Amino acid sequence: MRMSNMLVLTLREVPTEAEIVSHKLMLRSGMMRKMASGVYNYMPLGLKVLNKIEDIVREEMNEEGAQEFLASAMLPAELWQESGRWDAYGDEMFRLKDRNQRDFCLGPTHEEVFTDIARNEIKSYKQLPVNLYQIQTKYRDERRPRFGVMRSREFVMKDAYSFDKDQEGLDLCFNKMNEAYVRIFNRCGLDAKCVEADSGAIGGSNSAEFMVKSDVGEDDVVFCNDCNYAANMEKASAIPEKSEKEDLKDVNKIETPNTKTIEDLVKLFNVSKKKFIKTLLFKADNKIIAVMVRGDREVNEVKVANFLGGVDDFNMASPQEVVLATSAAVGFAGPIGIKVDELLVDAEVSKTHNFIVGANETGYHLENVNYGRDFQGKVGDFRNVAVGEKCPECGGEITIARGTEVGHIFKLGTKYSESMKATFIDENGKQKPFVMGCYGIGITRTMASIIEQHNDENGIIWPLSVAPYHVVVVPVNIKDEEQMRIAEAIYTSLKKLGVQVLMDNRNERAGVKFKDSELMGIPMRITVGKKINEGSVEFKLRSESDNELIKIEEVCDRVKEEFEINNLKIK
Ligand code: ATP
Ligand code: MG
Repeated sequence: MRMSNMLVLTLREVPTEAEIVSHKLMLRSGMMRKMASGVYNYMPLGLKVLNKIEDIVREEMNEEGAQEFLASAMLPAELWQESGRWDAYGDEMFRLKDRNQRDFCLGPTHEEVFTDIARNEIKSYKQLPVNLYQIQTKYRDERRPRFGVMRSREFVMKDAYSFDKDQEGLDLCFNKMNEAYVRIFNRCGLDAKCVEADSGAIGGSNSAEFMVKSDVGEDDVVFCNDCNYAANMEKASAIPEKSEKEDLKDVNKIETPNTKTIEDLVKLFNVSKKKFIKTLLFKADNKIIAVMVRGDREVNEVKVANFLGGVDDFNMASPQEVVLATSAAVGFAGPIGIKVDELLVDAEVSKTHNFIVGANETGYHLENVNYGRDFQGKVGDFRNVAVGEKCPECGGEITIARGTEVGHIFKLGTKYSESMKATFIDENGKQKPFVMGCYGIGITRTMASIIEQHNDENGIIWPLSVAPYHVVVVPVNIKDEEQMRIAEAIYTSLKKLGVQVLMDNRNERAGVKFKDSELMGIPMRITVGKKINEGSVEFKLRSESDNELIKIEEVCDRVKEEFEINNLKIK
């Protein structure tokens, strides 16, 4: 591409709306422009990168025997009513009506659609297994669209749905998709880690997320420094800390006026936070649930909701509900005499002796309370893992880091095939529901994440595999005929090789051209200047600070070498 014909959309100013590096650089390099909150137009440069990521995804999905489909993005309400998600999806779903007042939505995801395709098209076990995927624009009316295409309301997703005759087939497909995802993110130059994720009501080790570490990520991820263990905080198992053996003492009521927080209590009693047990109240659908965790711990709401099972609505109880359950002001809840539908006790609490809890009476706490002797409840893992704890697999050191999910693989089992009556005939002539899996990758989020991991103060540093162009040729002075002749010759021979080249023949200063190509992140730059008198041009990698002086006739070989180093073929 000759840049004299190109719409160069680089911006020198940092757009004020952008908070994170990738968002700033995607706007500044001219890859995209905003249409509305969380809605973007992809400009030519951005589209090139998107297409390259999509091609990598296609190749690896095809490699595992998946078949590309393209379903409609506008979906009739009936399908979603069948699965029960028309109501459950809530405000995140963009809804519309046709001229006959029929309800539709813009697809936020496609489980229902592909289950419908399977039940209509697949009749027999002989047609299984099948894995169908598409790369398509998805619509979600996110509560907080932000960070550009990291969390947008319109985004490109690769979503795949697998259909197997049994669990064994699904397990196999899930593993294949896991491997394909590892290859996809590697090829994109993205350091993404596979972590265990919560699989809600379906349970088990049925869900894994591919996470990239990021300070602005919205998930907490628990990593082990010593083994391969990695899990989303929602899922990471907490090992109860052993407390010291003590003789059980008698319960004692203590006046604790004006103590609203654990900190107030720690001051008053002058003992460690670990001696206090918090009793927190939640509303799960119509039930009031109390959850007890140690004073220095956090309740894990996902674990609690999963333990209860089949909960649609899960929230903190309102102050009024707390007052009703405890017959006291907020801040004095405790297990003894509390009026709740269920009392859940974190395993660590059940192992702590002589602890302090609220007395369910305004201005009072109880000390020397013990689980089993003074109250009963259901014991389980109801808390978040905290910094300084041990890995549940190997006992090693753990780190907790923020992460963003770029991909998600999930064993759905028969959740959708049962509710939507999607069946096939098995070897024995019996109707059986498909055993399903689903596998998503956020294509546009992947693009932003690559930039987050590959940039410097001058702009993007694209990995060669996804760069919009591989090489930029910069003649320093376009009025110099000899420089232009050589630049053109290099441009043409590189193009002949199949390299994607930009020829910066704009009537601009060399400095401006360098700045633009650095901002755009073009991996290789060939500068054609005065050194041509000695038969040389400058070769520079975007990722390195130094220039190399190379002979004009060596340019093609030097470029080829970079492809070899990166294990890439020139297409
Ligand atoms: P998140 O927890 O970030 O909202 P999700 O669990 O809703 O993600 P999935 O439904 O599993 O996401 O969608 C598959 C993939 O689509 C995600 O892994 C992510 O990469 C991408 N994705 C989801 N929501 C968005 C969004 N609003 N903007 C951009 N990409 C998104
Ligand atoms: Mg979401």
